[in-house]
Amino acid sequence: MSKDYYNILDIEKNASQEDVKKAFRKKAHECHPDKKGGDEAKFKKVNEAYQVLGNAKKRAQYDQFGSSFEHAQAGGGFQGFNGFRDASGFANGFNVEYEDLGDVFSGLGDIFGFGGGKRTARKRRGSDMQTILTIEFREAVFGAEKKINLRKKVKCDHCRGNLAEPGTKIETCQVCGGSGRVGKVQRTILGNIQVQAVCDNCAGEGKVYAKKCTKCAGTGAVMEAVSLKINIPAGINNNETIRLSGQGEAGEKGAGDGDLYIKIQVKSDSRFERQGYDIKTKIKISFTQAVLGDKINIETVDGLVKLKIPTGTQSGTVFKLRGKGVTKLQGSGKGDHYVEVIIKTPSFVTRKQKELLKELNL
Ligand SMILES: [Zn+2]
Ligand SMILES: [Zn+2]
Repeated sequence: MSKDYYNILDIEKNASQEDVKKAFRKKAHECHPDKKGGDEAKFKKVNEAYQVLGNAKKRAQYDQFGSSFEHAQAGGGFQGFNGFRDASGFANGFNVEYEDLGDVFSGLGDIFGFGGGKRTARKRRGSDMQTILTIEFREAVFGAEKKINLRKKVKCDHCRGNLAEPGTKIETCQVCGGSGRVGKVQRTILGNIQVQAVCDNCAGEGKVYAKKCTKCAGTGAVMEAVSLKINIPAGINNNETIRLSGQGEAGEKGAGDGDLYIKIQVKSDSRFERQGYDIKTKIKISFTQAVLGDKINIETVDGLVKLKIPTGTQSGTVFKLRGKGVTKLQGSGKGDHYVEVIIKTPSFVTRKQKELLKELNL
C-alpha cells in the first residue's frame, strides 16, 4: 500500500515547494466535494499528500522512508510523521520535542476568562525512533520473523514509572495543592492580570517526593538495550517502512511512548528481478527448441514450474506464469512471473551441421 504522494499530486520528485502548493491547489479545486463531479475520496487523498509534501521537513522524511504502513497493530493506517530518533544513536535533525500546546495557551484562557487547558506539568511523549533492517530476497517474498537490537528509553522497572524510590512517600505539593500551577500577577499594558505559572516547589508535577527513584533519577525512564521480534509481512519491498506503534522511546513521566519505524532494505537475488509483486527472469533456449517447441523447467520463487515453449517461438517472447510472483502485501493474491525467452545462436557448428543447415535453408 505504498502511497505515492507525488503521483497523487501529479508532480515530479524534484518539484519545488511552490510547485507542490500549485499542484495541490489545482487538484483540490478539481475534485472538491462541493463541486459538481467532485470526488471526496480523491480530495482526501490530495489533502493527505499535501500535508506531507507541503511541509519541507515531512517531505524529506517521506522521501527517505516512503509512506509506512501499520504493522499488525490495531489502529488506522498511515499516521503521518513525527520526530525520529535514530535507533543506532546517531543524532539527526528530526528529534522533535512534544510540548503540550494546551499549556502554552492555558495562561491566555485565564486572561480571557474561559478557563485554561490542563493544569498538570507538560509531559513529553517518547521520541519516535528509526532503524534500518536488511533482509534476504526470499524473506521479503515469503515474510519472516527477525530480531533487532536497539538501545532505547524504556519505562523504569525500579519505580514502575511512578518516579519515587520504592517504599518512600509521595505527597501532594502543599504550594500548589497538586495542580502544578500557581497564580501570579503580571503587569501588562492592559493592567495587572492574573496568569498561571508552573509551581516552583514541585516543578509542575503537583507531587513532592521524599526520595526520587535511584535508578531513573525520577524521570520514569531508563536507557536499555532491548531486543525486539519483528514480523516481516510477506510481500514487503525494498525501502518500505514498518511502523511499530508504541515501540519507540518511553515517554517522560509516564507520557505515551513513541513509535518505531523500521525501514526495510531487501538484498537482491541474482536469479530474480522483482518489479512490484511480479518477478522477471530470462531463459536461454536452443534454436532447435525454439523451432520445434519443448517443455522446460523455470525456476520461480515457488520452485520449479514447467513452461511449454510452443513451436516457432521467437527470441524475446515473454511468457507469463500466472500467480508465481510475490504475495501481495495488502489484499489478496500474488503477482506473476514473466519469463523472457532468448534464443541461443550457436557460435560454432561442425562441418556436418553446417551442411545440414544449408540444406534446411531456414
Ligand atoms: Zn525509576
Ligand atoms: Zn506544586
